[in-house]
Amino acid sequence: MYEVYALKCGERDTTACEFFYREPSHQPITLHFFVWLVLGGPHPVLVDTGFGEDDASARGIRGYVSPAAMVARLGIRPEEVPVALVSHLHWDHWAGYRHFPASEFWIQREEVAFWTGPVARYDVYKAPANPAALGQLVSLNYGNRVRLVEGECAVLPGLRVHRVGGHTAGLQIVSVETARGRVVLTSDASHFYRNVERYQPVQLITSLPEMLAAFDTIRALAGSPDLVVPGHDPAVAERFPLVEPGIIRIA
Ligand SMILES: [Zn+2]
Repeated sequence: MYEVYALKCGERDTTACEFFYREPSHQPITLHFFVWLVLGGPHPVLVDTGFGEDDASARGIRGYVSPAAMVARLGIRPEEVPVALVSHLHWDHWAGYRHFPASEFWIQREEVAFWTGPVARYDVYKAPANPAALGQLVSLNYGNRVRLVEGECAVLPGLRVHRVGGHTAGLQIVSVETARGRVVLTSDASHFYRNVERYQPVQLITSLPEMLAAFDTIRALAGSPDLVVPGHDPAVAERFPLVEPGIIRIA
């Protein structure tokens, strides 16, 4: 049985109309930025890699703490994380790869193809990309540090990735068996609870039908609705116990 933690690396304000799909409200919202750590197996497994100081300052992130420092606060040295599951390649989930020098990064093949393919020329896809970090995929791959996966795949017994797409071409979510039941780390398949709970999409999309189907997949996989962990929702710290500031114990 695994233990799961959400580790907060920073936050940023925006508005509902800038974030949700066809949303008229100008209501302010705050995004929290996380990585997740799964303990209790043969070795730690990181879910997403966060980002560095460079993106934090360029993109106006408040209260930045590096993902390596957050992992260390749980007693795990960043160089002792052999597996990192990368939900997708947006800057806030991938650019932190450099903090984890011994990790093999598990990424959907379709996700890598997307961000290294023809969309790079369109401005709309440039905003969520960190081109330098994306460029490193090739070197890391030749160094046996990238594992390209397709569809659904077992990582360890009771720990799986599932491709859902929608928000990005090869977005994957993670299911983890815990003492409380099966937890689903949705990452950006559901940034907020309101995405999966009200079937409300976000603006950044590669396939709207896949984004909606992802909400069904999350609900079907989770042991109960309380075991869904969205990717950027400050309410995660209200629905799960806080161990200390920035560290939330999911199960
Ligand atoms: Zn994100």
